[in-house]
Amino acid sequence: MRDYDLVIAKGTVVTAKAVYAADVGIAGEEIAAIGQGLRGRRTLDARGCYVLPGAVDVHVHLQMPVSGGRYVSSDDFASGTVAAAHGGTTTVIDFVEPQPGQSLLQALADRRAQADGGVAVDYGLHMTIPTWHADCLERHSEIPAVIEAGVPTFKLYLAYAGLRLDDAQLYTVLRALAAHGALPIVHCENGPVCDCLRAEALAQGHTAPRTHALTRPARQEAEAVGRALDIAALAGAPLYVVHVSCAEALERVVAARRRGQPAYGETCPQYLALTAEVLERPGGERFICAPPPRGTADQAALWGALARGELQTVATDHCPFTLAEKAAGADFTQAPGGLPGIEARLSLLHTLGVRGGHLSLSRWVEVCCTAPARLFGLRRKGDIAPGFDADLVIFDPAGEVTMSADSLHEKVDWTPYEGWRLRGWPRVTVSRGEVIVEDGCFVGELGRGRFVARKT
Ligand code: MN
Repeated sequence: MRDYDLVIAKGTVVTAKAVYAADVGIAGEEIAAIGQGLRGRRTLDARGCYVLPGAVDVHVHLQMPVSGGRYVSSDDFASGTVAAAHGGTTTVIDFVEPQPGQSLLQALADRRAQADGGVAVDYGLHMTIPTWHADCLERHSEIPAVIEAGVPTFKLYLAYAGLRLDDAQLYTVLRALAAHGALPIVHCENGPVCDCLRAEALAQGHTAPRTHALTRPARQEAEAVGRALDIAALAGAPLYVVHVSCAEALERVVAARRRGQPAYGETCPQYLALTAEVLERPGGERFICAPPPRGTADQAALWGALARGELQTVATDHCPFTLAEKAAGADFTQAPGGLPGIEARLSLLHTLGVRGGHLSLSRWVEVCCTAPARLFGLRRKGDIAPGFDADLVIFDPAGEVTMSADSLHEKVDWTPYEGWRLRGWPRVTVSRGEVIVEDGCFVGELGRGRFVARKT
């Protein structure tokens, strides 16, 4: 019997399909064997722990400029992926945002140059098609070349002036993406209507953070989800809806799937864990993100949908800003939008989802690891089987962790989950056969992560 380079021994393997006791043998960067009594040159004892596929976070914003460059999200590719690794995430997908007039391929090259020296785990990129590019799609479509470069997923916005597409642009872009087999992923809020609601509220003197949620009501999100799905059906395109936050939007995704449409939905920990009440607290502006956290009935609907497979993935939309940046503006419209969360996703979903009785162990792994890898064309990730990348997590389900900005590795001075006691935390994170986090210490090297060319 051969000696493997690394054996994770005596743990409980949890995949999207099964839960069973086994050793996992790793040769080089790959999973080579799953069995009993495997021998390794190095052995990690996983007794009492789950052995999971490395988690996949398909929605993160590291060092992302917002508000015309006034702010940049505070985690860079190095700090953000180290935080991800601590939390058991071994692959992230970030975004390319081409500047007006810039070629998509040049923007992709620039973004890769920002990431490549710093990333601690493997990463991919989505290409954003902003307003200006939607208008010149036919003159110089680089879509096939972008797909060829390993970026087969495209982010479209229906909110935010400058980024958002109108219905004709959305239809045209979806047609073009469908023609090349790309997967569109869409931020669904009715941007123009939200802008009206915000202007009305400000004119009436409503400046407090709670107004953020009131001016981005659930119905306008649902309207945009339904419209995007209907236009996608006309364009013959699949559609992945990012950050579904509420029951009404969820219903539109479910209805489209029932009609046989290739429609997929993601939700985020903040919509499962927080409600709009957080915006009413002192310092509530720190919780400003879009869509905003909703109500308890929405949370219940999202949990049910995740359990039943009506939502496919949980991603973080990690986009951290410091407390000072969040509080700098005169009213709720000035705060840079986004929450930190890249590190605690697996543990939060274990605590609230598995221990909370909403998700089976396998479903937990499916929504955090397996389904995101499959949907986004990460063919060697998200599962524990011979030939897959040896991206693995030894997760101690009994470990208790109290969330605090001080102990998390995200480069930001707060966490939405301050003081929360979570059950279960990764003890070891392995990326392509290399132990990169062990007992709370990052022992990998920055820049060791690789760009993963994806194919959907
Ligand atoms: Mn986002």
